[in-house]
Amino acid sequence: TGIDELDEVLPTCRACPRLVAWREEVARVKRAAFRDEEYWGRPVPGFGPRDAALAVVGLAPAAHGGNRTGRMFTGDRSGEVLYAAMYRAGLASRPDSVRPGDGLTLRSTRVTSPVHCAPPDNRPTPGERDTCRPWLAREFELLAPTLRAVLVLGGFGWQAVLPVLAAAGWRVPRPRPAFAHDAHVVLPSASEGGPLHLLGCYHVSQRNTSTGRLSPGMVEDRLRAAARVADI
Ligand code: SF4
Repeated sequence: TGIDELDEVLPTCRACPRLVAWREEVARVKRAAFRDEEYWGRPVPGFGPRDAALAVVGLAPAAHGGNRTGRMFTGDRSGEVLYAAMYRAGLASRPDSVRPGDGLTLRSTRVTSPVHCAPPDNRPTPGERDTCRPWLAREFELLAPTLRAVLVLGGFGWQAVLPVLAAAGWRVPRPRPAFAHDAHVVLPSASEGGPLHLLGCYHVSQRNTSTGRLSPGMVEDRLRAAARVADI
């Protein structure tokens, strides 16, 4: 299967009972401001071209963000920060991501997450992360031929993506590299392919952006660094 097919099949997944219940409950009750909208209420696929050179990996969709619109990082404050920075870094065709059908395209970049359903309190369990891993693994396997860099937003995504990168054909050093905002590790190919640049960045959640721990300029700088080593 290709990525297009993966994106079509993923939204049918019901493997995590707690997350299925939560995503559907949120979609039924809604937030007052979105009362007239139909929520997506299903797993949210990755967004971006199938031959991306850069992957941006978050944590999980937000209850009233991706779980509402059906697109990664769309419809919440985290997404506003991320896509605005991607636009300034030359990776997005417009500075905001409103909803599918808004014409937004990404330049050689795919945005995805290790957990595809919105979790309560934005906190998936380790078990849910592991249950969702085959979806991320398949996505990276399909991206591997063109992928040159991965920018991971936060420690949860970092931990989740390391085994996936190892399975997709890159050598992950032991002990495993630690997450940091300025982390930059080069993973050699386990076969004949090229190396992969693995970079860190604090997550674009409001917990980081509203406290000043992470500024929009810092996100842009990390995106630019990742795009540079991905040859975009
Ligand atoms: Fe399926 Fe992943 Fe959603 Fe669990 S989090 S139900 S594995 S798509």
